[in-house]
Amino acid sequence: MDSRKLWQTVLGELELSVSRANFRTWFKDTAIISQENGHIVVAVPNPMAKNWLENKLGGDIRKSLDRMGLAIKSIEYRITTARPAGTAAGVGVKDPLIAAVTAPQTTTPQPVRAAGPTHPAGAPGQTRAQLAGAASHPQLNPRYSFDTFVVGPSNEMAYAAAQAVVRYPGEKYNPLFIYGGVGLGKTHLMQAIGNAMIQQDASKRVRYVTSEQLTNEFVNSLQTKKTKSFAELYRNLDVFIVDDIQFLGNKERTQEEFFHTFNALHQAGKQIIMSSDKPPKAVPHLEDRLRSRFEMGMTADVQRPDLETRAAIIQRKAIASGTRLPFELVEYLARHVQQNIRELEGALTQLIAYCELHRLEPSLSVIKGLLGARSLGGGRSKAVTPRAILDKTAAYFELLPTDLTSARRDRDIVVPRQIAMFIMREELGLSYPKIGAYVGGRDHTTAMHSCTKIEKLLEVDEDLRAEINQVKERINL
Ligand code: ADP
Ligand code: MG
Repeated sequence: MDSRKLWQTVLGELELSVSRANFRTWFKDTAIISQENGHIVVAVPNPMAKNWLENKLGGDIRKSLDRMGLAIKSIEYRITTARPAGTAAGVGVKDPLIAAVTAPQTTTPQPVRAAGPTHPAGAPGQTRAQLAGAASHPQLNPRYSFDTFVVGPSNEMAYAAAQAVVRYPGEKYNPLFIYGGVGLGKTHLMQAIGNAMIQQDASKRVRYVTSEQLTNEFVNSLQTKKTKSFAELYRNLDVFIVDDIQFLGNKERTQEEFFHTFNALHQAGKQIIMSSDKPPKAVPHLEDRLRSRFEMGMTADVQRPDLETRAAIIQRKAIASGTRLPFELVEYLARHVQQNIRELEGALTQLIAYCELHRLEPSLSVIKGLLGARSLGGGRSKAVTPRAILDKTAAYFELLPTDLTSARRDRDIVVPRQIAMFIMREELGLSYPKIGAYVGGRDHTTAMHSCTKIEKLLEVDEDLRAEINQVKERINL
């Protein structure tokens, strides 16, 4: 297996056992840079990451490599400042599971995975409940449970609805549609439902996918002529969880297939749970028949947590990681990191790691230093490349990047191509000749014309604006 794929696989596994904040903090800009005779060298960007990977996560990384049948003799974590080619940077590390299925250069088409627990056997010493429960489910992170979810005014409705679904699956709250901004607990709640359902009844076929994964699986099934097994897999579920449904906007074929799956499951009294960044009405480019179905059951939102809830979350997470934080520090963090809960976790993780590494007690001055160094409110990723723009734009429109760079002039391709060029100009400030070169060696006048055209359209076309925003969101802009 090549190093890039190998590392992607390890990351994919670890993401399920490590908290998201930890995952992002420690795996950013890491890569396997060599593997020879069982000696593996992992590049890490700084001493903190080296320390963390070596000491905290080394065992898990090793286990994951072992599971792939490699005879590993040693793993060295080496600090490199220059980012090696094929690094799991930016988009890749942000969500490797998604990246693994969306980034065409990193994967070959993946077979549709079976629902339900598919890991052959648990580790010795696991209890039956653990084996039967979330720990062995390929798509569910056992860390996302109801127990670890802090309830406050901002999310109590969604929380109550999620619990009701576990108690009465397929009944009143079907589908359950949870919506709200980034990092506010949608994925956590939906996964908690999945975990609880399996704990309740291990034979339940639960499947969790992001709508991007769903789209990719469907497109692959079309390409490999396996639509039948795709349909079979999905129509035989007991619980179907689809995350970030907004990305189905504009995917007509996938929407069509999803519509049939939805109906089959709904009629059979199977539970469907979805999330989105907006309420069904506001999701752009969704067929009306889907929209109306999404509104059939229960719609609940998650909002930004208030100060008290933020403080409670920090308190809870600090305790869980074995750190004692005086209340004034909890409050300071809660006051200063307001954007969302993911950011809150990130700030706390950094604080804990920093203090551990430097053998310091957490203090206001440390927090202030760290918060000052972070860009509050979520900075943009530095890893955006023309390539990423091309890949993600293509994926958004259910096309291949090579369609965008090809000579084809079908309208279905021309507009996405123009959008990709526009984003390159707007976000990366590339020159027109460069943009032309990136989209299949086109002339600079073509690039210029495309960018101007999209700019003009944007003045009048709200849908186009929403669409471009969604593409940008995927590129992490
Ligand atoms: P979303 O899917 O809405 O973008 P996530 O569910 O991924 O957000 O949440 C981001 C992070 O914040 C996750 O690590 C999650 O566990 C944590 N989180 C979100 N809401 C809560 C909450 N109410 N209590 C505890 N942790 C939370
Ligand atoms: Mg989510």
